[in-house]
Amino acid sequence: MSLHKKPINHAYIALGSNLDNPVAHIRQAYRDLNALADTSVLRHSSLYKSAPVGRLDQPDFINAVAEIVTAYQPVQLLHALLKIEKNHGRSRDGTNSLNAPRTLDLDILLYENLRLETEALTLPHPRMIQRAFVLLPLMELAPDCEIPGHGKIGQFLAFCRDQTIERLDIPK
Ligand code: ADP
Ligand code: MG
Repeated sequence: MSLHKKPINHAYIALGSNLDNPVAHIRQAYRDLNALADTSVLRHSSLYKSAPVGRLDQPDFINAVAEIVTAYQPVQLLHALLKIEKNHGRSRDGTNSLNAPRTLDLDILLYENLRLETEALTLPHPRMIQRAFVLLPLMELAPDCEIPGHGKIGQFLAFCRDQTIERLDIPK
């Protein structure tokens, strides 16, 4: 008998929402991630409230980061995340969807120590080191983490001092 073990890969997922009860969308998203085949959420950060960047005329965001293990390969994982976003009612109409309000945004921050640059997927996430709403929750889970191609996480927060963000004192 051969026991076939699925490969297990560590990844960190950023979650964000600023429409229709954002906290509920984030909490449901943990369950959705956990329900993916051969995928488990190991831990997730506190919830954070952050002011929008780029487009300021929209509600504050709720953000968090989850640590998962998964047998999905990176592009497969991205497609699974896009499907979850869609199930949460996220619409991507309009050509300028970047920085637009959304019921749920799921980004792959890190996947093992992989560096990848394709049209559909860039790893590490290209904007993660400029965003306090990614760095703070990720540092909660992995304070010493190495961002491939960039270095230790700790050094980047200093460049985000002008961003408004608050850790919420509510159950995560
Ligand atoms: P953002 O999250 O930066 O506001 P979107 O959620 O609208 O932008 O994502 C647009 C596209 O970014 C996705 O359809 C996906 O193909 C691409 N993308 C590239 N790298 C990543 C990544 N690491 N995680 C998630 N999406 C990514
Ligand atoms: Mg996204």
